[in-house]
Amino acid sequence: MNKEKTQGDAMGGVDELYREVILDHFKAPKNRGKIETPSNHADGVNPLCGDQITISANIDNGIIKDIKFEGHGCAISQSSASMMTAAIKGKSLGEAKSVTQAFKQMFGLEANDPSLSVELGDLESLEGVKKYPTRIKCAVLAWNTFLESLENNKK
Ligand code: ZN
Repeated sequence: MNKEKTQGDAMGGVDELYREVILDHFKAPKNRGKIETPSNHADGVNPLCGDQITISANIDNGIIKDIKFEGHGCAISQSSASMMTAAIKGKSLGEAKSVTQAFKQMFGLEANDPSLSVELGDLESLEGVKKYPTRIKCAVLAWNTFLESLENNKK
């Protein structure tokens, strides 16, 4: 586990980490594909950038047994989807929602909740995106689509 924290004063380092981790997920995405008979699914689009994400998941007894994504678009939208599925697969819905909240807090989209204790891991590499407000929509697309899928339960 890499516990290294990027300090705000080292923007060069942040950018380098940002590129490396994001491109890794973009080139070799985790959990890419479609679940044939998902319990939950949703489609999301970010018209500003042309990003599309489809989330399919099997959620059983409040546990995300499996989650996959399909889609196309910029490296930030697709790598964020890959990192998200890796972060929440196997987790409870409560844990997944906490990760979602922590991720959105990183961009100032949610009020800061000091009681929230979540290891963001690779997801921290996307923090650099907050310097580019239009790209924040790319980074959160998969997450909003995931939340939408929770409302879209086929069972
Ligand atoms: Zn995008």
